[in-house]
Amino acid sequence: MKGGETKKCRKCRKRAVVSLKTYKISLCDTCFPPFFERLVERDVKKYKIIKEDERVLAAVSGGKDSVALLSTLKAISSSLNFHIEALHIDLGIGEYSRKSTEICKKLCQELEIELNTVKLAEYGFTISDVSTKKVCSVCGNAKRYIFNRFARENGFDVIATGHNADDILANFFKNWLSGNRWWIEKQSPRTEGFDRVITRIRPLFLRTEKENAIYVLTRHLPFLADECPNAPQDRWKEIIYEIEAKIPGFKQNFVRNMFKEKKEVSDFRYCSICGEVSTSEICQFCRNIMKYGKNREA
Ligand code: AMP
Ligand code: ZN
Repeated sequence: MKGGETKKCRKCRKRAVVSLKTYKISLCDTCFPPFFERLVERDVKKYKIIKEDERVLAAVSGGKDSVALLSTLKAISSSLNFHIEALHIDLGIGEYSRKSTEICKKLCQELEIELNTVKLAEYGFTISDVSTKKVCSVCGNAKRYIFNRFARENGFDVIATGHNADDILANFFKNWLSGNRWWIEKQSPRTEGFDRVITRIRPLFLRTEKENAIYVLTRHLPFLADECPNAPQDRWKEIIYEIEAKIPGFKQNFVRNMFKEKKEVSDFRYCSICGEVSTSEICQFCRNIMKYGKNREA
């Protein structure tokens, strides 16, 4: 913004609260939430993330991402024709879990969504019983196990999580730079289930952490701002933040390209001037000769 000038909302001219560089648009607090929901609806259709009549179980922790997930899925559920319920796992992480559970109850009441709650303690242990070194992997494993088992035993077709573009990129960097290329598959917008494994979906895979935060604030939804007390500092997210500061839009472009449909190699023809393989009538090289060549006709 130049010289203290205030940006105006593209849709209603009120004072804008957010400027999205990727979409070259500024929006006010009233126009942003429906814009966000439309972006998610467009991605759900484009990437075939949810099919008609599916029973969707949204995993909610009470943090901004899963709160944004649940509210957005509810907003688009009637036009896309699917059923939505929530699942919250009480992990037994002291005050943090107590607050998370309360937030999920309040949220589901406001959104009029059925909330299912499972206590990890029902299985005989809680996250507080685990040594600090192993805590995050034990917690991640417990969540995945309970999501899957609960969904299967209660007739759900898909499990939705609030993973955002920052999470997906950080996981990709972490795994790719340690030599594991196969991780990409596991993070796609929809990973089909098999045998006793239920399909997993990530409808917010193209939304950034910041967009999710602005959405829950502008929709005035209850959410827990506290970080999990066990969560380590994520160095990859810091690195990604630095790249994004230098190359705005980098995160969303990267994640979009990760899941872009592969272009068929058979989709080619021959350049009508030189005969080399080309995807268009005249190949790019011949077009460049016509444009920059010294011998081009005036
Ligand atoms: P995390 O593994 O903490 O990064 O969380 C990833 C996603 O898992 C969140 O966006 C939620 O959809 C889901 N999730 C995390 N914690 C819980 C929880 N306690 N209960 C239900 N879902 C959760
Ligand atoms: Zn507006």
